Amino acid sequence: MASDILIIGGGFGGVWSALAAARVRERHGADLTITLVTPGDDLVIRPRLYEADPAAVRVPLERILQPTGVVRVAGIATAVDTGQRSVSVTHADGRIERSGYGRLILASGSALRRPDLPGAEHLFDVDTLAGAVALDTHLHALPARPEGSGRFTAVVVGAGFTGLEVATEMVGRLRALAGPAADEVRVVLVERAETLGPELGQGPHDVIKEAVEELGIEVMLNATVASLDAGRVRLSGGTEIPAHTAVWTVGMTASPLTRQVPGRRDPLGRLRVDAHLRVPESPQVFAAGDTAAAMADGAHPTVQSCQYAIPLGRYAGHNAAADLLGRPLMEFAPAPYVTCLDLGAAGAVLTTGWERSVKLTGGKAKELKRTIVEKRIYPPLDDLTALLNAGDPEGVWG
Ligand SMILES: Cc1cc2nc3c(=O)[nH]c(=O)nc-3n(C[C@H](O)[C@H](O)[C@H](O)COP(=O)(O)OP(=O)(O)OC[C@H]3O[C@@H](n4cnc5c(N)ncnc54)[C@H](O)[C@@H]3O)c2cc1C
Repeated sequence: MASDILIIGGGFGGVWSALAAARVRERHGADLTITLVTPGDDLVIRPRLYEADPAAVRVPLERILQPTGVVRVAGIATAVDTGQRSVSVTHADGRIERSGYGRLILASGSALRRPDLPGAEHLFDVDTLAGAVALDTHLHALPARPEGSGRFTAVVVGAGFTGLEVATEMVGRLRALAGPAADEVRVVLVERAETLGPELGQGPHDVIKEAVEELGIEVMLNATVASLDAGRVRLSGGTEIPAHTAVWTVGMTASPLTRQVPGRRDPLGRLRVDAHLRVPESPQVFAAGDTAAAMADGAHPTVQSCQYAIPLGRYAGHNAAADLLGRPLMEFAPAPYVTCLDLGAAGAVLTTGWERSVKLTGGKAKELKRTIVEKRIYPPLDDLTALLNAGDPEGVWG
């Protein structure tokens, strides 16, 4: 197997890379093969994995890639050899194949770093579809457990973006499952720092604090989990919480494939790329999504998020194809930074800019959050023109 453009990863970065490369191929009537390697059959809408029914938040890749003529290979890339310009792929049937490439786009995402603490096997997460489905299945089994044992208590570790969304949503999820036993519901948010949402800064802090109080979430600051078992969580200070559910949300690291590409990496393990999203030390390799540390503007690197993964994909796909065709490359120019944090039944909070000024709260922000995660970050399906337009680096999305 050999491909002019080989994309590793079928998430936001990889899918939008494929659409952008297909768009350039179509515009120039070029004869380029584009292949996307990913283990699953679906684009997983990862930002929705903290919601109830996570199994539903996925989109069949076939309906995105097939109309655009992008070849999908169901497999896992295990090794990248930039000298030979090849990638080793283990196919779903166990076959191992080396695939040559003209340009490689590394879009294999990121993963949660699970802690090494006693009882860590009892920690749930919402990092992957499998993890979120395991948590959902576990939650649905709680009503059958003994009353008063902490069956409806959940400890959420980390009060960052993901931890806040998990905790605020967990209140409603547990109440719905507990029914008449709703007064047994207890959600405890454990944060190592001395403040909620430490990386979100002062801007949205008070809105978050009010929401957490409104929902009755207990907050333990300057604390972390020391150990746990199936029915109890022990905190670093010695506090024991009877809890049948513990969710770990802290510590992301870029896909280990980034270490196989000669280049410089940032503290998250992301490859440092230039303004064209190329890895300078490995000029045939571009990176997109959570594997790429690009500059979002003159002063700030991109944040691991869909809001960057989608444009990173568009520019990387465009540039990989343009590079092969000898066409001009485009400098990465994403839209200004915003965050929209879900706060469960307490609404949401929208901030703009790197100082994260609050622009919208409550129901209006919640409406916007639903529009973003249920519509804007979904690609079009089946329709070739819409799919190719979705790959336009200068187009709006959603
Ligand atoms: C709970 C949660 C909430 C979030 N909320 C938000 C939010 O509100 N807003 C926001 O902008 N972002 C949010 N994010 C972050 C966002 O989901 C990620 O930044 C985004 O998914 C990154 O896209 P990606 O394509 O780089 O990675 P992914 O979407 O993770 O895709 C990576 C792909 O690579 C594949 N892959 C991995 N390894 C290999 C391999 N070796 N070979 C082949 N394929 C491989 C995977 O199977 C997957 O298909 C959230 C994330 C989580 C977990």
